[in-house]
Amino acid sequence: NFISAVVPPGEIGIKFEDIGALEDVKTALHELAILPMKRPELFSHGNLLRPCKGILLFGPPGTGKTLLAKALATEAGANFISITGSTLTSKWFGDAEKLTKALFSFASKLAPVIVFVDEVDSLLGARGGGFEHEATRRMRNEFMAAWDGLRSKDSQRILILGATNRPFDLDDAVIRRLPRRIYVDLPDADNRLKILKIFLAKENIEPDFDTRGLANATEGYSGSDLKNLCIAAAYRPVQELLDEEKKGKKYDKTPALRPLSLDDFIQSK
Ligand code: ATP
Repeated sequence: NFISAVVPPGEIGIKFEDIGALEDVKTALHELAILPMKRPELFSHGNLLRPCKGILLFGPPGTGKTLLAKALATEAGANFISITGSTLTSKWFGDAEKLTKALFSFASKLAPVIVFVDEVDSLLGARGGGFEHEATRRMRNEFMAAWDGLRSKDSQRILILGATNRPFDLDDAVIRRLPRRIYVDLPDADNRLKILKIFLAKENIEPDFDTRGLANATEGYSGSDLKNLCIAAAYRPVQELLDEEKKGKKYDKTPALRPLSLDDFIQSK
């Protein structure tokens, strides 16, 4: 139960097409992870094209790192194991060795598999000098030893995918084991437009709804912020209806909700 999720590839329910923007990130993940997992024969000659054992996704919160990890497993036809750095270190003081062995042997059985380590900085953060808890240090060393110990046959089919908002906190030894680092940036206006189009695709919006205007008005929003904004805006017509009912308004049949206007979004900011 130190693992927060284990999901077979067909059951994750998220594909690359569900993620707005981040085209460069998807392309990089395709080359680094999907192709080597799906077409290992293309990567088994010579030394240049060895599949990498670890990839780091870093960038501000809410930019879609977890979503990318899940979609990657779908696209690669791999199982998905998810662990969270902070849970691992806080819950399992003292049992580092057993725990890490169990994790890696479990992963070997599930290969091809993506092992997603969210908040990788808490598990594998820089050595904290005298203040660091002994158990955290042991856990990190065990984890790295088990990672190095993956047999080369397995390493093609087990990918450790770390995510962090704090890449500068990572230990050098960890950085070396995550040779591919991909920056997941906040979306610019064009990319916010792509993300908003995904969220609003099935919503009842006014016919001349200015999605471009909304994208321009949400500078600094992450994908996650945009989603929360859309949810808050979508609630406004519901709230209006509830207010009318409170005032005693009666209907013959359940009334349709009014379509969403740009103003709903501006008011929800
Ligand atoms: P954190 O660093 O805080 O863990 P994260 O980068 O892992 O955040 P996610 O958990 O993947 O971010 O994103 C949160 C939610 O925001 C997702 O479930 C999704 O609904 C939405 N989201 C973020 N980015 C995108 C995107 N590019 N396209 C579609 N949805 C997105």
